[in-house]
Amino acid sequence: MQGEGRTRCLCCGDLILYGRPDRKFCSSTCKNRWHNRQKYPAQELVERRIIRILRRNHDILDRLIRLNIRSLDRITLMDMGYHPDYVTSYRKVGIKQLFTCFDIHYEQTPTRIKKIVRTSLEESADSKR
Ligand SMILES: [Zn+2]
Repeated sequence: MQGEGRTRCLCCGDLILYGRPDRKFCSSTCKNRWHNRQKYPAQELVERRIIRILRRNHDILDRLIRLNIRSLDRITLMDMGYHPDYVTSYRKVGIKQLFTCFDIHYEQTPTRIKKIVRTSLEESADSKR
């Protein structure tokens, strides 16, 4: 019996090393995730698509910072594959429009983004105090 009936997690594919032989999932996290996927497959696809776009946006901003580019016109930015509608936060302060994509902040004008800067998590936590 030992060694037999050990199956793989339906969700992540990891070998299930302990528990009853008929267990289908390696953890309750995987179990919940799998059931959510069955219930809301469209939602899962939407979330993955948004996360992919946000990651690409972040990669582009990250590349600009590495190249020491702090300001860029929006047309060039969009040519690089940037989706300006996908950000992780937006604030309006006076006439300034401030955006963040994860840890990178910038200001947007009708034609440019500028003051592209990375803020460490510690700093953004400090600024909320
Ligand atoms: Zn799993």
